[in-house]
Amino acid sequence: CGIVGYVGRQQAEGAVIEGLRRMEYRGYDSAGIAVVADGGPSVRKKAGKLANLDKALAADPLPPSTTGIGHTRWATHGGPTDHNAHPHLGAAGRVALVHNGIIENFAELRAELEAAGHTLLSETDTEVVVHLLEAAVLDGADLTSAMQSVCGRLQGAFTFVAVDCADPERIVGARRNSPLVVGLGDGENFLGSDVAAFIGRTRDALELGQDQVVTISAESVDVTGFDATPAEGRRYHVDWDLSA
Ligand code: GLU
Repeated sequence: CGIVGYVGRQQAEGAVIEGLRRMEYRGYDSAGIAVVADGGPSVRKKAGKLANLDKALAADPLPPSTTGIGHTRWATHGGPTDHNAHPHLGAAGRVALVHNGIIENFAELRAELEAAGHTLLSETDTEVVVHLLEAAVLDGADLTSAMQSVCGRLQGAFTFVAVDCADPERIVGARRNSPLVVGLGDGENFLGSDVAAFIGRTRDALELGQDQVVTISAESVDVTGFDATPAEGRRYHVDWDLSA
């Protein structure tokens, strides 16, 4: 339902939780966060309100990290449990993914993955996508090209934000029939399903078009189509009054 991604010089946890809190108005049944530290993901996710995630984070703090992704979930496939909450990980624990929307052809992709020996741990439509992304990355693709090729196989509506923990200086997003916005900061950049994800930190935004992939680092933003051709988003300035 709500997505935030952060890469920069600040602590990602603070930026991600702040963004999730600003998107609470959208409604949700679970919340989760992943940050990357020492080449691997640290994930905390909880059914219920953000207060439950706050408690989990207080009881079991995340390591410091400047790269993170977060999600508030509105369950469509699989009940609202800790287990089905996002982020989801690939089997090797290398790629982490959050998703808004519905993958309509997930059942056939799941059958294909299971036939190839994958064990899926959740009941979500989302988890097939992180397994496909991680398989491509383990085959040598970078996460951007993995995202381009995997999105080309999907039907439905999706906004994704993913991170390859072996390459934590960047995060990758993609969209079809569901919104994705880049927040352009100074030495940091954001991805959000909504400008509320980063409005407390920057008001310079770039809206992605249909069937586009974006890769952000602290200093760069690169947009392509699912076919890998270079593309451009639409830049704008958010001038809402935050006190309203
Ligand atoms: N279909 C996904 C799920 O049920 C994502 C739902 C959402 O948009 O929050 O986990």
